[in-house]
Order: sequence, then C-alpha cells, then structure tokens
Amino acid sequence: MKVLVTGGMGYIGSHTCVQMLESGIEPIIIDNLCNANQAVLARIEALTGQAPTFYQGDIRDEALLDRIFEENEIQSVIHFAGLKAVGESVAKPIEYYDNNVNGTLVLARAMKTAGVKSIIFSSSATVYGDPEVVPITETSPVGNTTNPYGTSKFMVERCLSDVFTSDNEWSITLLRYFNPVGAHPSGTMGEDPKGIPNNLMPFIAQVAVGRRDKLAVFGNDYPTPDGTGVRDYIHVMDLADGHIAALKAVGLKSGLHIYNLGTGKGSSVLEMVDAFATACGKPIPYELQPRRPGDIAECWASTAKAEADLNWKATRTLQDMTADSWHWQSNNPNGYDSE
Ligand code: NAD
Ligand code: UDP
Repeated sequence: MKVLVTGGMGYIGSHTCVQMLESGIEPIIIDNLCNANQAVLARIEALTGQAPTFYQGDIRDEALLDRIFEENEIQSVIHFAGLKAVGESVAKPIEYYDNNVNGTLVLARAMKTAGVKSIIFSSSATVYGDPEVVPITETSPVGNTTNPYGTSKFMVERCLSDVFTSDNEWSITLLRYFNPVGAHPSGTMGEDPKGIPNNLMPFIAQVAVGRRDKLAVFGNDYPTPDGTGVRDYIHVMDLADGHIAALKAVGLKSGLHIYNLGTGKGSSVLEMVDAFATACGKPIPYELQPRRPGDIAECWASTAKAEADLNWKATRTLQDMTADSWHWQSNNPNGYDSE
C-alpha cells in the first residue's frame, strides 16, 4: 500500500516512515524542509534498506499535490506537515493558520480531486485546553485553546469533521498526540529542533551534551506531587507504531475516528530530569523559574479507546525514552548537522 506522508522528513514523520517501511507500507513523502534536514532521507534508507520517494515541496502547492497523486497509486494520507511552535504561533498567527489550516484544505481538495478519501491527521492533546479531569478521554471538551497553534489544530479537526459530514465515504482519523519524546534506538534518527528548543526533552538533551548550561524548570508551585508540571510522555517509536495500527484498523474504513495516543501515565519535569540524568550518567543542572504563561498543571491520556479499537498500546518505558534520546543526542551533538 502506498501512503502519502506530508511532513515525512520531520521528527515524528521520519520515525513513522521507518516503521511503515518495516511493515511493508510504502511512504511517498512531501516535505518543504522548513523544519527538517535533507540528511533524514539517507538515514531512513540506511535503517530500512529502502529509499522512499521524496518530493521536496509545499502542501499548499496544489499542482504539485495533483501531480503526486497522478504519479503514485496512493490509498491514504498521513498528514504531519505543519508548524508547531506555540510561542512562535502567537507572534505569527497568519503564517500558522495559513500553513496548518489552509495547507490542510489544499491537501483535502487535492485528495478529493484524486478520489483519495482516507486521511490520518496529527492532532494534539492541546485541543483539550486545560482539562477539568484526568485522564483525558476522547469525549472530553475540546476547543478551549490558548494560542494560534492549538487553535489551528482544533480548526483542522473541525474542517475534517465537516468533510466527513458532507461525504460519509471519507475515512478521517484524528490522532491526538500527548508528548512525543525519544528517538530511534539505533541513535541515527531523532528530534533536531532548530534554535533554542521549546520542549522539555530536547532542552534536557542539549544540556546533557553541553550545548546549553542549564535547564529552566518552569514553575514548582503547581498542584502536583512535586510542584512541577506533569505530562504524558510517549516514545516516538510507540507513536509511529500507533499510526500504522490506526491505518490498519480504521484508516480505510469510512468514518470519523478519534484517538488519544499517549501512555496513560504522567511524569513531572523533575522526574524527567532524574530519568535523563540516569540515562546519561551525569546530573542535569537546572534552576527553578516562574511558570511559563499558558502552561497547564497536568495532563495525561486515557488510552482505553485506542487499545480497544486499534489493538495498540505504548510499550516503551521512561527509561527507553531517555536512553534513546541520549543515544541520539550523544551520537549527533549537533543533530543532523553533525555529519
Ligand atoms: P516537525 O516540525 O519535525 O515535522 C513537520 C514537518 O513538516 C517538517 O519536516 C517540516 O519541514 C514540514 N512542513 C511544515 N510545513 C510544511 C508545508 N507547508 N509543506 C510541506 N512540508 C511542511 O514536527 P513533528 O514534531 O514531527 O510534528 C509532526 C506533526 O505532529 C505536526 O503537525 C505537529 O503539530 C503534530 N504534533 C506534534 C507534537 C510534538 O510535540 N512534536 C505534539 C502534538 C502534535
Ligand atoms: N518545561 C520546562 N522547561 C523547559 C521546557 C518545558 O520546565 O525548558 C516544562 C513545561 O512547563 C511543562 C513540561 O516541561 O510542564 C512539558 O513542556 P513541553 O513544552 O515539552 O510540552 P507541552 O507544554 O506541550 O506539554
């Protein structure tokens, strides 16, 4: 089966492409490389022995999408492409809505033209806003988002839901990721943020490798066991496997399918710091700072629906996440530019 993978050169997309190739599914990648490195392609090939077809281009280029659908017998689309930095989205809302919302609409139109009516979309736990109860189930309220990035995810969910309402032949799968971390166990592929990392795990990894002095822990006065924020960290390889499980279970079945992809377990910032220190064998210097605006105290997923319907559950531990992240970071101190 051929699947168009938008944003397939990025962090989650690249790991998913590897797992797809390992399961006999052929990814056709489109990526404009705005947040990815060309070197990823060779790493995918080195790991799998197969070079995926790659189109360098933008999902808002409808003529290119039409050509890709004409040149390949694509059955489904996994849609990762988008901008994802929360802070940047506040400063650049037009760019975020254009890329994430308009980009998805252009893609959906090209899919309609090509008669491809199956899409798996990278959504986020951010659509739940500040949850009233944890664990969060798929029926928890959505839409109370606090920044343009989160709102763009919510808007795309609504757009795709309306596409399904208009034509029930579509198979629309909305996967709400919790906090993806970790790297391929080979140490050859991982997260490679440009500039100063916004997210906890890549920041810790860069402190461990000596690229940054210390971690700022944002807030230790939350109503959590140690006062720091609690999140549901999920290994990127589990997340990648979750896409394949979704593709197989519901990806070609008409319907609007919504799943949380998480582990069901919350870990605090300080627990992550400790786990990483164990993995890399040295302490991670940190200092306590005030809360980061817009952050919530805690969130973790209910995983029951994904387990029941997709026959999938995350199996990798916090030790796997930190060990694989350190393996990647220590082998590639400057990410893909280390070559
Ligand atoms: P990433 O930035 O590593 O990957 C996104 C890829 O899309 C990049 O390779 C980028 O070059 C490409 N891209 C962006 N805009 C494009 C466009 N207009 N046309 C073609 N290519 C384009 O991010 P990621 O962490 O791999 O995230 C993948 C998806 O998952 C995103 O939609 C993101 O919002 C979503 N998500 C990520 C997280 C997370 O913490 N990483 C959490 C929840 C949801
Ligand atoms: N965090 C932190 N220092 C950082 C980055 C993040 O203390 O440099 C905390 C943040 O406040 C939150 C947790 O780590 O409690 C996860 O943040 P991240 O940005 O990785 O994910 P998200 O906010 O999307 O859950």
